[in-house]
Amino acid sequence: MSESTGKVNLLGLTQPQLESFFESMGEKRFRAGQIMKWIHHFGVDDFDAMTNVGKALREKLKARAEIRGPEIVSEDISSDGTRKWVVRVASGSCVETVYIPQGGRGTLCVSSQAGCALDCSFCSTGKQGFNSNLTAAEVIGQVWIANKSFGSVPAKIDRAITNVVMMGMGEPLLNFDNVVSAMQIMMDDLGYGISKRKVTLSTSGVVPMIDELAKVIDVSLALSLHAPNDELRNVLVPINKKYPLEMLLAACQRYISRLGEKRVLTIEYTLLKGVNDQPEHAAQMIELLADIPCKINLIPFNPFPHSGYERPSNNAIRRFQDILHKAGHNVTVRTTRGEDIDAACGQLVGQVMDRTRRSERYIAVRELQSEAGATHLATNRS
Ligand code: SAH
Ligand code: SF4
Repeated sequence: MSESTGKVNLLGLTQPQLESFFESMGEKRFRAGQIMKWIHHFGVDDFDAMTNVGKALREKLKARAEIRGPEIVSEDISSDGTRKWVVRVASGSCVETVYIPQGGRGTLCVSSQAGCALDCSFCSTGKQGFNSNLTAAEVIGQVWIANKSFGSVPAKIDRAITNVVMMGMGEPLLNFDNVVSAMQIMMDDLGYGISKRKVTLSTSGVVPMIDELAKVIDVSLALSLHAPNDELRNVLVPINKKYPLEMLLAACQRYISRLGEKRVLTIEYTLLKGVNDQPEHAAQMIELLADIPCKINLIPFNPFPHSGYERPSNNAIRRFQDILHKAGHNVTVRTTRGEDIDAACGQLVGQVMDRTRRSERYIAVRELQSEAGATHLATNRS
């Protein structure tokens, strides 16, 4: 229920939730399917546009419900086809959504929280502290907005958004219920019909929630590893102090083993010059991942002001990749896309109102950025 309007936002309801909503109104459950198609296939937010719904029901719906996506603050299209939206959520903060076309694929990178409480040392989102969890409507609303920008005709859904990755701002497993509902809508044929293999949740390692996730959904899982030993990971990904590597990898094993054959864990590893990019780190990684069916995605660090880290040279990146490759791993290096619109991985800043005060030391940085005359809210390019 929206605090401002007192209405139920139908955008964030899964099919069973929408069925219950209609039942509670004394209406037939099948209405849920009709409404979902209007909302997600056709991008409709006006009940009067729903031609197969009678006038009386439309009036009833108008009185009790709404279809409301997050407010679009800006939309940028990069010269390489990457698109980025900055959207404002109910808490007043802004988050970012990025669309990356590549070959026959179109991947949408979706945010789950405004800011993040986990404070990974190389992540600009973490440096802003935590503000709020997005509602289910705000999470799926990012897909809704992106899909509408491609014309919102069902036939086009396949061609535009083929994959969704929960790799935008925030830790999705710390906004569990809303993220799960949104992912259910992504996979539902009445929603976006994206296959479970093509919806990926990325986590920095909230172990108990990985097991919870296994109970409710079978999306693909990506682990933000970033360090091959606890000593280093404690520094780069502080949640490691609570859930160290052995525990974490065991939880990931449990998660993927129930997905059946051919499903693998994606390992994300941000390469930081002189910190985790040495041959000895690659060797430790090989040992660590020996028993885990996985593919490795190396992410060269994307700099932001005062991060204190640098991106390794291309030679160092290739050397690291080669060592893993020679050990039999499937290793890709994530190319930076949408650089001209600040859409690179780990550079999403939105505009978060920090409630944790963690980011006090970064406020000065943000002030400097706004003084530099940024024209839109995404302003973290060094
Ligand atoms: N909170 C989740 C998902 C969002 S971050 C997680 O941590 O997995 C998506 C990926 O980008 C993560 O692997 C994250 O560690 C990485 N990342 C964060 N900041 C980065 C930066 N500055 N350069 C490159 N990758 C970064
Ligand atoms: Fe949060 Fe992920 Fe950034 Fe870590 S890398 S601070 S978990 S968004």
